[in-house]
Amino acid sequence: MIIKGKKREVQLRKIIIIGLFLVGTLSTALAQDEQKQVPRSVTIIQAGTLMAVAGEEPLKERSIIIEDGKIVDVLPSYRTAYEDAEVKIVDLKDKFVMAGLMDMHVHLAMAGGPGKDSGDVALAGVKNAYKTLMIGFTTVRDLGATDDTIFKLRKDINSGDIIGPRILAAGQIIGVGGREDGRECNGIESCRRTTRDMISNGADWIKIYASCSGGRLCSNKDGPAVFFDDEIGAIMAVAKKYKIKVAAHTHPRDSALQVLKFGVSSIEHGSYINDEAMKIMIRDGVYYVPTVSVMDLLEDVVAKGENPPEMLAHDQAFLDNNPGNIFKAYKKGVKIATGTDAGVVPHGKNYREVERFVELGMTNADALKAGTINSAELIDMSDRLGTIEKGKIADIIAVTGNPLEQIKDIENVIFVMKEGHIYKSRKD
Ligand SMILES: [Zn+2]
Repeated sequence: MIIKGKKREVQLRKIIIIGLFLVGTLSTALAQDEQKQVPRSVTIIQAGTLMAVAGEEPLKERSIIIEDGKIVDVLPSYRTAYEDAEVKIVDLKDKFVMAGLMDMHVHLAMAGGPGKDSGDVALAGVKNAYKTLMIGFTTVRDLGATDDTIFKLRKDINSGDIIGPRILAAGQIIGVGGREDGRECNGIESCRRTTRDMISNGADWIKIYASCSGGRLCSNKDGPAVFFDDEIGAIMAVAKKYKIKVAAHTHPRDSALQVLKFGVSSIEHGSYINDEAMKIMIRDGVYYVPTVSVMDLLEDVVAKGENPPEMLAHDQAFLDNNPGNIFKAYKKGVKIATGTDAGVVPHGKNYREVERFVELGMTNADALKAGTINSAELIDMSDRLGTIEKGKIADIIAVTGNPLEQIKDIENVIFVMKEGHIYKSRKD
């Protein structure tokens, strides 16, 4: 058939359109077929004891269904199948299963001192991240690093190239400058600039050094608040602009009261917070991260007795005051989250914070809550983390024993899952 002129053109176009349509239909059909050939894959954790929500009665004989890194269901009894999915069973029938622990005050990538360079910082970060995850801490807030390596570490952990916990990082600490006092904030302009720089470098949080470090005499009860009000105001204004929260390191009474006026989100250490500070913290929902694990270090230092007498007295004052003061804040209802200050104390022993909480009088359930639900709330992730419930990210750990009965069992982590991936799975 010979088709001429315009009619021929129309006819040809029709053939092409029909052809394209057929190819399209065929490829859609093929894609659907391919999809059918890849079955759904879920992991079923059979949990003997499940503390789904810290503070609530643990559940017995449950199955946690995990798909694409998320908890899609928590069902009664031990399941071996789920809908039409291919299943992988994890048998934790004789274990205590709970949400991944969280540490709100670590320094993963910190390596200072003579002969140390950026390579040491990077290696420290990789090693410490691994140690932290393997003991069941699936999320950390990093509150102070030597340099910006922590942001690279965060990126490589997110991509799966390095094994470690989920990191929210502050980068370098902002302080008044000089010695160990952090990135410089001296006067409004300088404070604005430094805060902006930290945020543009990748900070998820801002950490300010509102008093001397605990290792210096000026961090005593009556020690100075080191910033001027307008300096903190400048930092807070920039942070607020970018919707970034601020954590404040403070030991003395007055530096805590100062930063609380400006709406910080957490008080770190807070050794000498008084009744007035506690009242403001309750009113404003400010979290207290008392880093009580540091007591381990202070007890050692005092026992050795090698420091000058005034320093020993300074450390002894912390030991005498802090446990009682933290317990007082807890009883009053100040919100408390776990934070070890790992980096100052050893990495890989982050469970000490939970144990220390119990030693100072907290219930086991509340100590575990501080390390899960409260920490998730502090970092605005309680819709995704902190409990084992439908829709949450699958950060799940298991221990031998029962930390609700004996808190030391929190050290026996034999299983670690982060975002649905299993990083540790041992029998005992
Ligand atoms: Zn610290």
